[in-house]
Amino acid sequence: MEREYGFELGLCAALEQETEWLLARQLGGAVADPGQRIVDVVGVVPGPAFADRARITASTIPPAAVEADLGVGRARPPKAAFDCRPERRAAVVADAVDCGFLTREPDDTQPRVRQTTRYPDEWVGELVAIENKPDLDRPGGLREQLRLDASLALFDRVVLATATHVTGAHRNRIPDPVGIWRFDPESGQRRIVRSADRLPVAEPGIEPRAYRDGRTDISVVSPAAKHRRRRRIAERAYGKGWRPDAYPACARCEPTDDGRPWCAAYDRVVDPASECGTDCPHHDPADPPVVDTDRLRDARTPWQRAPDGTVDRQVGLGDFG
Ligand code: SF4
Repeated sequence: MEREYGFELGLCAALEQETEWLLARQLGGAVADPGQRIVDVVGVVPGPAFADRARITASTIPPAAVEADLGVGRARPPKAAFDCRPERRAAVVADAVDCGFLTREPDDTQPRVRQTTRYPDEWVGELVAIENKPDLDRPGGLREQLRLDASLALFDRVVLATATHVTGAHRNRIPDPVGIWRFDPESGQRRIVRSADRLPVAEPGIEPRAYRDGRTDISVVSPAAKHRRRRRIAERAYGKGWRPDAYPACARCEPTDDGRPWCAAYDRVVDPASECGTDCPHHDPADPPVVDTDRLRDARTPWQRAPDGTVDRQVGLGDFG
């Protein structure tokens, strides 16, 4: 697991340098049972409307707000526009207003909200799922995971990334449409062993749910459900990014220039959540290093940390006083 974490962050850092993609880690990659498939890395390839999306907010736009029955010129009471429980509705509206995608109509007898702009679905060019398996000789559930990805076709492309020399036997165990990359996290070198085929994301998908007694229970997933899930994944990736939320409160942590938590004691990238703390024998208490992850992301990707936003500025009488 430790090796996988450093491998994963190394791959994110390398892809961020080589491409325009937005990268995020550990996102749900199924539809009927979203928790059954957690994708290691998701790459969002910017589409033609990327700038329109970036202008709205640096955060995730709550997908339920995008799916609500609202429009730019169409203010409605939240109760009429959202098909969910009152507490959830209130939380989604609050988040969507906070991030600037919805606005509350002023001076109204009953609360109403409207979108501040059209949601630009075309901001996503492609979604790429990357499964990391540094050591292919310890595959775990790799085969089932990749078979699910290929038959569900939720992502435009699926890639297996490994540090292992890929043999013919390895290739035969990997479904045909899945691409293979060989990646060295030390040097950041990536070699395409096999290109990923484009998957039919606009067609119904088959999601395996359970394997038992030689048969597989499945769900058939509609194109509309896949579209909604893809938007959720893309929005989550936009707001989340791949860098750690917190760095170790330890003097031995010396973050790399691209924001990976490097540990001088172990001479490698460490996972702050699972490896650091007082249980670590080399722990040396100190303030966590200051890493401005937003600044790094803003400088290295098309993501914008402080966009103009799409909320109309209301000019009050006091502004003329
Ligand atoms: S807590 Fe341990 S693993 Fe984490 S940075 Fe400090 S020495 Fe390294």
